[in-house]
Amino acid sequence: MQNTTTEARCSHCLMPTEVATDGVADAHDFPYAVDNYGQCKGSGKATLAGPATPPAVWGANFTTLMEIGVLPSPLPQAKREGWTVTITGVRFTHSAHCWKCRQCVYVATEGGVIQIGFDHKGKGFEKERAGARPAYDGPCPNGCGNRVVFGGQSWHRPSARPVADARTVQWREWEQLRRDLGVHTPDMTPSDLARLRSAH
Ligand SMILES: [Zn+2]
Ligand SMILES: [Zn+2]
Repeated sequence: MQNTTTEARCSHCLMPTEVATDGVADAHDFPYAVDNYGQCKGSGKATLAGPATPPAVWGANFTTLMEIGVLPSPLPQAKREGWTVTITGVRFTHSAHCWKCRQCVYVATEGGVIQIGFDHKGKGFEKERAGARPAYDGPCPNGCGNRVVFGGQSWHRPSARPVADARTVQWREWEQLRRDLGVHTPDMTPSDLARLRSAH
């Protein structure tokens, strides 16, 4: 595996971590508060280096996302405004099926966005949007000989989802936001809403 930087990541939560000795991750909490979640299972285990570069396309028979370079991804940036957190720079994977061999075909894109938080009525929400349309036109990575066109007219809209380390950032941001606002239910309670509105 080729790496473009040497940032060390925990092999379990995929977050940047201190390296103790010989590429072993220091003890750290997961995903945000050790009180709630305990010590991360990657504590004391070998670290990964990243961010890595994903292949242009890959098929059903890959080893692991780490070995092919999809993980770890560049770490997304989180910005909070009021009751909303916007997470940018998210790598997404898009999947579709080859019509000939019926196996999965995957493409990655960069620059996606995840938004979490509470709306003006205090209702919790999550939104996500891939940054770019996936683009690939070439042979099926499953080796069936078919030409596959990602992002073309003939394809079903591929399903897109953020990679695992972006999800970890998402859970951490939820934890931080809930803690800061003092909201511990999926939506704000009427008293949360009254308390937070009067604080403005
Ligand atoms: Zn960890
Ligand atoms: Zn195929």
